[in-house]
Amino acid sequence: MPRPYNVIFFSYLCTMNTTSIRKDFPVLHQSVNGRPLVYLDNTATTQKPQAVIDRISDYYETINSNAHRGTHTLGRMATEALESARTTVQKFINAKEQHEIIFTKGTTEGINLVAQTFAQQFLNEGDSVLISAMEHHANIVPWQQMCKQKKANLLVIPVLENGELDLSEIDNLLSQNVKILAITHISNVLGTINPIEVLIEKAHKKNIPVLIDAAQSVAHEVIDVQKLDCDFLAFSAHKMYAPMGIGVLYGKSEWLNKLPPYQFGGEMILEVRFEESTFNELPFKFETGTPNVDGILALETAIQYMQKIGLKEIAKYENELLTYATEKLSEIDDIIFHGTSKQKTAVLSFNIKNVHNSDVGAILDQLGIAVRTGNHCAQPLMEILGIPGTVRASFAFYNTKEEIDVFIEGVKTAKKMLM
Ligand code: PMP
Repeated sequence: MPRPYNVIFFSYLCTMNTTSIRKDFPVLHQSVNGRPLVYLDNTATTQKPQAVIDRISDYYETINSNAHRGTHTLGRMATEALESARTTVQKFINAKEQHEIIFTKGTTEGINLVAQTFAQQFLNEGDSVLISAMEHHANIVPWQQMCKQKKANLLVIPVLENGELDLSEIDNLLSQNVKILAITHISNVLGTINPIEVLIEKAHKKNIPVLIDAAQSVAHEVIDVQKLDCDFLAFSAHKMYAPMGIGVLYGKSEWLNKLPPYQFGGEMILEVRFEESTFNELPFKFETGTPNVDGILALETAIQYMQKIGLKEIAKYENELLTYATEKLSEIDDIIFHGTSKQKTAVLSFNIKNVHNSDVGAILDQLGIAVRTGNHCAQPLMEILGIPGTVRASFAFYNTKEEIDVFIEGVKTAKKMLM
């Protein structure tokens, strides 16, 4: 059974008790290239608390069995644990029904599921799909390929220089035979928090359903799918302190029921004959094959871990880190910031004038500082910005101001060596 774990909850402080919290993350306590690790690549993936790691081994040490199959006791326990985790996810994003939670491999699979099944059912020649210019490839390529297959158009909401969406033509764009709007909540490159409430309302006025890519928001914002009224929402567990290879697609029942199955095989069927098969009800219609039970249980533990700290407290603290890091970085000459929207999450994308981003990343790595460099799976956005890539530091609640000081000194060193 899950072991108890320790999170100290300081609701009266807007700073985090990072000393205590960091004890929960074993990976943070190591040297990299002879220096204490400073992990600032949380947008790519987050580190896992001991409670999450323990939940995986507990599962294999106690109840490992194939869920939804055997009638034996362990099988029943695995099934009950899985379905209880589904309820935890349902409550976490405030979905109306438990069966609106579909377990996937991650955001990419969730978006592909909707793109392929939605296009099959609802996209025709001359129709359009609307995305934005700041999408991750995961929310571009699946739609682009479906538009190619169906001879439909891929329309793009432009981005302003400061990294906000340019909504000046949104009414016009939504009027061009758009069958679905698929948009990211938070940009993984710019950190921009998009006004998705406004976009959802506008789209719904024209009966256009909306898919939200919540890969970057689910660990940093309180998500309430009923309040947002989005039709689909996809996220990955590994970006919220849980393991890789597991994710969630939320869909309103009315939409999920209208879509055909995505993959075929065991679990998703009711009855199979050689001539014909009938399909299972939600959520199983979309969960083909043996589920990732340990990943699902670990996701539940990660949610409980974040809830103990408090999503609002996490956002507040990460915002403090962002403000501090932005101030410190702007004191250095020749830094070009990418993404200066007022509504921003703790992602800091930048370049040093006339220096290649990967050279900066390599020097930081030698100093034990992990940041991401490159195009961040957003090549069209890089083309718009006219750059090959950025250096990106992204913060989580276990990061500290002291780590930001080390990072700033690292950027100064890189600048000295490269300019
Ligand atoms: N969308 C966004 C905004 C992302 O940041 C990412 C991951 N970087 C994805 C989609 C894809 O997530 P995954 O690789 O976990 O499927």
